[in-house]
Amino acid sequence: MRVAFLGLGIMGRPMAANLVKAGHELTVWNRTPGKQVEGAGVGATPAEAAHDAEVVWICVSDTKAVEQVLFGSQGAEESLAEGMIVVDSSTISPSATRKFAERVKARGAQYVDAPVTGSKMGAEDGQLIFIAGGDEAIIERIQPLFHAMGKQVFRMGETSKGQAAKLVMNLQIALIYEGFAEALTLATKLGVSAETLIPLIQASMVRSGVVDYKAPFVLKRDFSPNFPLRLMYKDIHLTLDAAKEVRVKLPALETVEEIYDLAMEEGHQDLDYAATLTLLEKWAGVEVKGAAAS
Ligand code: NAP
Repeated sequence: MRVAFLGLGIMGRPMAANLVKAGHELTVWNRTPGKQVEGAGVGATPAEAAHDAEVVWICVSDTKAVEQVLFGSQGAEESLAEGMIVVDSSTISPSATRKFAERVKARGAQYVDAPVTGSKMGAEDGQLIFIAGGDEAIIERIQPLFHAMGKQVFRMGETSKGQAAKLVMNLQIALIYEGFAEALTLATKLGVSAETLIPLIQASMVRSGVVDYKAPFVLKRDFSPNFPLRLMYKDIHLTLDAAKEVRVKLPALETVEEIYDLAMEEGHQDLDYAATLTLLEKWAGVEVKGAAAS
């Protein structure tokens, strides 16, 4: 298929590369020039990249970025025509998604929200899980693209339901990781090392995929970004806003939000969200590592 891919960040670049690898015809665009994907053409603007595409796939930071890429000056909207499909794999606001979809549909094109889970490794290995919202027949038409980048597609319902489900997934990831980080901090202070504790966690009913993914990085104290803290912070706010719209209280997530506020103040925004651990360590006066704290 002819695909315009807009946004070549941590996720977008490997996703676009996997589409090329699967034989699709790609034109890419990125706000900051210079990022490229081997085998893909480059558009000077979102509108130019989207010109003549069958599918416009977006993967940028946040709601505002999606709005700019689609509807800003020289945005993809200018090139939308009957029968084209816009897919948004960014994690953004469900209510804004409904508005964006209406504007796209007014041009005769179709809209699918398809945020992802699987992080940097999943994007690189073509093992992402897509969480889709939109018309079933349209989602069916783009199955070859989903399968070039991921291992599974879950349809959550109509437009915006993919974004809604993605937010509740990240709600859980944020809480599970914070539980893990608090457990490691207290264990270290009590004299049980992380290397000793983690196999117990993973053998028991406490085990989780979050720990599978994050533990090796934590043990190496590698906080380089797989999922940057600033993006999890954005998702926590999107989730709290969505909850407020439907009058749901999320007290645990509100507490975690405070930790992220402090982590942002400490300048950790471009580290992985796993770096929230370093705040807990600072307060406890310990550092989590293989050996037990004295
Ligand atoms: P990233 O590495 O920070 O890349 C963000 C991309 O968005 C870059 O291409 C950036 O362009 C572009 N961008 C930002 N603001 C823009 C604007 N105003 N107009 C146009 N382009 C703009 O982020 P990422 O990790 O790839 O994440 C992309 C999306 O996937 C986010 O919504 C994130 O929440 C979601 N996600 C990420 C992960 C993960 O583990 N990383 C997992 C699941 C979902 P520049 O190069 O010019 O800055």
